[in-house]
Amino acid sequence: MMKYDVAIIGGGIGGLMAAYQIKKNDPSQKVVILERGYEQEKRKCPAGAGQKCVHCKVCSISGGFAGAGAFSDGKFNLGTAYGGSIGEELGERVAMQYINEVDHVLEGFADDYPPLYQSSEALKLKCLQNNLRLLDMNVRHLGTDRNYKTMLRLIEHLKEQGVEMRARTECQDIDRTEGGYSLKIECGTKKETVETTHVIIATGRSGADFVKKMCLKFGVHINANAVDIGVRVEMKDVIWREFSSVIYEPKILYRTKTFEDRTRMFCFNQGGLVSAENNHGVITANGHSFAEPEKKTENCNFAILYSIHFEGDFDKPTEYAENIARNMNFAGEGNIIVQRFGDLKRGRRTNAHRLAANSVIPTLEAFPGDLSVVMPYRALTNIIETLEALDKVAPGTANDDTLLYGCENKYYSIRPQHDGNFAIASGMYLIGDGSGITRGLSQSGAMGLYVGDKITNH
Ligand SMILES: Cc1cc2nc3c(=O)[nH]c(=O)nc-3n(C[C@H](O)[C@H](O)[C@H](O)COP(=O)(O)OP(=O)(O)OC[C@H]3O[C@@H](n4cnc5c(N)ncnc54)[C@H](O)[C@@H]3O)c2cc1C
Repeated sequence: MMKYDVAIIGGGIGGLMAAYQIKKNDPSQKVVILERGYEQEKRKCPAGAGQKCVHCKVCSISGGFAGAGAFSDGKFNLGTAYGGSIGEELGERVAMQYINEVDHVLEGFADDYPPLYQSSEALKLKCLQNNLRLLDMNVRHLGTDRNYKTMLRLIEHLKEQGVEMRARTECQDIDRTEGGYSLKIECGTKKETVETTHVIIATGRSGADFVKKMCLKFGVHINANAVDIGVRVEMKDVIWREFSSVIYEPKILYRTKTFEDRTRMFCFNQGGLVSAENNHGVITANGHSFAEPEKKTENCNFAILYSIHFEGDFDKPTEYAENIARNMNFAGEGNIIVQRFGDLKRGRRTNAHRLAANSVIPTLEAFPGDLSVVMPYRALTNIIETLEALDKVAPGTANDDTLLYGCENKYYSIRPQHDGNFAIASGMYLIGDGSGITRGLSQSGAMGLYVGDKITNH
């Protein structure tokens, strides 16, 4: 039976940074990372090659070494205003120290590290004057290719440091032992047991069921969380260039007129592409962009999302949002629906003819249809009002030819109670997006570094 000092479940940025820190602080530690997806370079998505989703057992877009961020735009938000709440958890000073350390670690593995985009007072004022709140944050944009290569090098470094990297190895259960924990793992048809003193659960959002199961098993109290539903919006890149050329990624909050709900413009991709994402067979929209000028498109895209906080005992926000996306796929004949904003406002579906004549050329092949047949009235009203508000600071945003792809959901993981250092039981830590505390690369990585320090007493 294999015996480790630390077993890390999940090979995303949280798990990788934890391993990095443990080995940096104490090279004698025996560390293994168990990842149910493929090695990074073997991650291939058939749907990404222009085919329909074939429902792989582990989605190669969201799982595998380098985690959900492997093919992302590689935007590292170097602050605490969004992307998670480790600022609240650790205090601003400590949180920023670890976020900056993530940046520093990555710089050591990247070619040609890009400069920071800094926040702009002038754009903040322009937004404020129009009832919009531009969130303040410095951003490092690695771009998809550079981010991918940086993660490859980080993984190579961990191997050189003696971290055992086990791909296609799923952790199915954890039991307490006298000296720590025993992990039941499955690699293909082979079942094994791994003994470890410490365990770090870093299973991301895709591992939500596993986290829930472990919390129930170890009697960890779970706090309910919210869910975001909305659309991916695509238009000509030039419309948002005043913002994107200065701060790179505008993230803007709005309070809607009819319902006074909080919406946010988020995940902006300059010169980007709209993409499809498969979560347990449910296809939702997302977006990304490449750093290289030759890979830029004429369009930009971003999400408009509205957070639903359920009151009372309802504890299935993720399932609720997944059902909306599933119905959207049903109405879209197995695909995401795309609709022109002009058609949505006129109460008619977008058809192939109108889409072909549209001035904004879609970067994702989606089903031309009608979002309003599925999207709840309140969500749709919020989306329309947000687009109209954004149009005041970036005229053209609410043009008839603006494209809306539905739906885009953001799931918050459940939020288990921890001891202040992210331990949910003695010697068992829960980090990254699976903890419900982070929602982005920098903060998930920062949590990994922090827990790495705690385990090695730094
Ligand atoms: C398309 C896309 C674009 C994004 N772009 C950005 C961006 O530009 N900037 C940003 O800050 N954030 C971005 N994000 C979010 C970011 O990717 C996540 O916040 C980040 O990856 C979270 O890291 P993590 O390590 O907590 O979890 P993950 O990266 O999700 O890694 C968890 C890993 O655990 C594995 N796993 C799960 N269960 C088990 C199990 N039982 N046994 C073994 N392994 C298991 C999974 O396969 C997965 O590889 C993006 C996300 C997506 C999907």
